[in-house]
Amino acid sequence: MHAPLLVLLLAFAGDPLESFRRARGILDRAMTAHAVSVPPSTIALSLHGTIEQLTQSPRSEPPFLQTPHRETLLLDLKGQRLRHSRETEWPYFTMKRTTVATRTAVADIDDTLGTASAGGRFETVRRRVNWRSPALLLLAARDAGAGLRYAGRDGAAEVLVFPQEDGQVMTLMIDARSHRVLHARWLEADPLFGDVVWETSYSGDRIVQRSNGVVVATLTFTQRSDVPIEEASFVAPALQPAAAPPAMSFDELAAGVMLIRNVGRGDYHSLLVLFGDHSVLVEPVGAAATARQLIAEISARFPRQPLRFVAATHHHDDHVAALRGYFAAGVTLLSPRSNAAYFRAIATARHTIAGAAPIAGDRVREVALPHRIADATNELVLLSAGPTEHAEEMTIAWLPRAGIVFQGDLFRGGTMEAPRKSTLQFAAALERLGITPQRIAGAHGEVVSFDALRGERPQPR
Ligand SMILES: [Zn+2]
Repeated sequence: MHAPLLVLLLAFAGDPLESFRRARGILDRAMTAHAVSVPPSTIALSLHGTIEQLTQSPRSEPPFLQTPHRETLLLDLKGQRLRHSRETEWPYFTMKRTTVATRTAVADIDDTLGTASAGGRFETVRRRVNWRSPALLLLAARDAGAGLRYAGRDGAAEVLVFPQEDGQVMTLMIDARSHRVLHARWLEADPLFGDVVWETSYSGDRIVQRSNGVVVATLTFTQRSDVPIEEASFVAPALQPAAAPPAMSFDELAAGVMLIRNVGRGDYHSLLVLFGDHSVLVEPVGAAATARQLIAEISARFPRQPLRFVAATHHHDDHVAALRGYFAAGVTLLSPRSNAAYFRAIATARHTIAGAAPIAGDRVREVALPHRIADATNELVLLSAGPTEHAEEMTIAWLPRAGIVFQGDLFRGGTMEAPRKSTLQFAAALERLGITPQRIAGAHGEVVSFDALRGERPQPR
């Protein structure tokens, strides 16, 4: 770097006005390059492409399941309101959600059910749409007013930094020659993977989004400005009254075998198995705080059987969301080999943004399935029921003395939904393993008799 330029940059570091003026010049040129030098009154944006399901794929490592994804965003910039519809095609269903946000009300709508619930702060909803086009990012940078700063050069890019509507800081990289937006970067705290750098890269009408360097979305966008938007677009269905969270409860299925229902939220259950001098939990659902609460509850109820091990039926994020809480309390995860790297990434993730201390020691123990834990009081066998369509590595917990099997996402007891391929694969796995349980418990749904599963066997959908 030339000495005068270095001196100039150092001067910027201490001179907010110089830094702002330089950034504003770069921003103005970029707004001209993206044809938003006169801010439009409305923006209509549609996006389509695929989302990579990093934590909801059959595998815990690439290649991940790619789900087709579509969005439409109607933004009234003057009136400060927006309507944002998203549609993701999963193998079994299409998830459709719409957010309608005005300065005074935010509604999160389930388009399948037609119901609406309160959708958080307007500022956050508004900020979350910014990465969806370069124009929206540039308008947000302009709206930051005196908060805009020049942060130097990075290769061919000029780097601007500014706070968005809800205070989250955005780093914008603008090509020094074409004045077009190249990348947007920001930080978020992920409950499982800790400090995450999000990055979106722009090329023509293409957006590639990465999370800690891994591609998570590839989208194409179409944008129109100053289009008329019908008033009805900003009207949401009446909000449902917020339901009280269901209480966590211990249900003793057999001696030393409890189903802990509604762990952290409704219809998410864990299994607790008590041995002579310790206990084992299957399915770390909930959140880190839920784990702390549950560990306290277990030590109050069963002071001579501290929780030593935890196991998960499969790696999906909603089934292992409490893992860090268990790791922090010194509980060890029993993991099949193929998922060990995934769980180690969770155990070793740094959570600087959230302000959580690193996990001490190696809390992931690789085990070969079947893995049997037994003493005079109880017996638990972790078995592989995979591969299944839902997850390739699929563990079930078998309690031979109680005649109970516990599973996650293979079968929802007590509902009449048509059998999925995974349910048939589960039934076939029980046959292959030579297991005839009396009852089937699960991470979701009711405890049912084995006949209930048999009833699901005849026709796959
Ligand atoms: Zn799952």
